[in-house]
Amino acid sequence: VNERQIIQYLSERAGGADSRILQSIGDDCAVIDQGGGRVLLLTMDTLIEGVHFDCALHPPRLLGRKVVSVNISDIGAMGSRPHALLLSLGLPPSFDEQWFRCFADGLTDACRDYGCRLIGGDTVASPQGINCSVTVLGEMEMDRVVYRSGAQPGDTIWVSGPLGFAAAGLELLRLGVGQDEDWAAPLIRRHLDPMARVELGGQLAESGLVHAMIDLSDGLATDLAHLCHQSKTGALIRGHDLPGLSRLIEAGRYVPGDPFQWAVAGGEDFELLFTAAATVSEEILAVGQRCNLEPVAIGTITTGSAVRLVQPLADGAVREVDITYQGYDHFRDKSGS
Ligand SMILES: [Mg+2]
Repeated sequence: VNERQIIQYLSERAGGADSRILQSIGDDCAVIDQGGGRVLLLTMDTLIEGVHFDCALHPPRLLGRKVVSVNISDIGAMGSRPHALLLSLGLPPSFDEQWFRCFADGLTDACRDYGCRLIGGDTVASPQGINCSVTVLGEMEMDRVVYRSGAQPGDTIWVSGPLGFAAAGLELLRLGVGQDEDWAAPLIRRHLDPMARVELGGQLAESGLVHAMIDLSDGLATDLAHLCHQSKTGALIRGHDLPGLSRLIEAGRYVPGDPFQWAVAGGEDFELLFTAAATVSEEILAVGQRCNLEPVAIGTITTGSAVRLVQPLADGAVREVDITYQGYDHFRDKSGS
């Protein structure tokens, strides 16, 4: 059973229609009608020691920031801004008090940076390892929410920044390579302390230019497949246009790993992926500029259901490959069946 099958099973049993629930399982946030043309957005994400982070590699202050950022990224992916946050923290009996203080300081600093507040939660004993789960609430105008389901064939596919940096950065950290090197710093930082593109998401939603949006948590191949599935479309990605490849190739000289694989399947970059009519490219770039970001057009929404990639090969030739759902899956059967 894979991650999508687990979600599908829960989704089928999650209850009947409720007219106030505008979006249930299947997008970055749930969306609930508040009346008066306003909606409430809710999302939850969990970081588990040994799965999402290694305490030996991850400074506690940055981990506290990250658990906030990865959740706020989902709020940004709907076009909203965060309002309040709930934390559930499981700590092993012998936890380090200094570790906890740094983690808590990082978490509350990040809340301040993003303009939201910690308003409650729970602390529990964990038999093994640290786990932290955060719920974020946001509010916005109902008719500005950007769902995954609005992409149309012919739309341009955009990403808000480089892909694969977090995956490459994690490899560098694990192998202790590039710690003090300028070329490696953006890669390592992306794994340790990613930034949610929430201001861009908000401004794109307000612009009314964007048809569909998702944040890149599980990698381009999987997250774009989610968006295409909800939109009943396919997609064609131009591999040579993926932003950040040159830096990944640099990293690939020092640690094992395929730069192209990092860019296509590496998770946790927390850039936004969105689609818009091909006629509004100048306007999209202008919104990006206002947020100090340079969105990059990487492909086109197509008919069909497959996510395909035109991959440049070493000899200058290209090949077209199907990459639908080829990114990270927590429950993928490693035997290949
Ligand atoms: Mg998401």
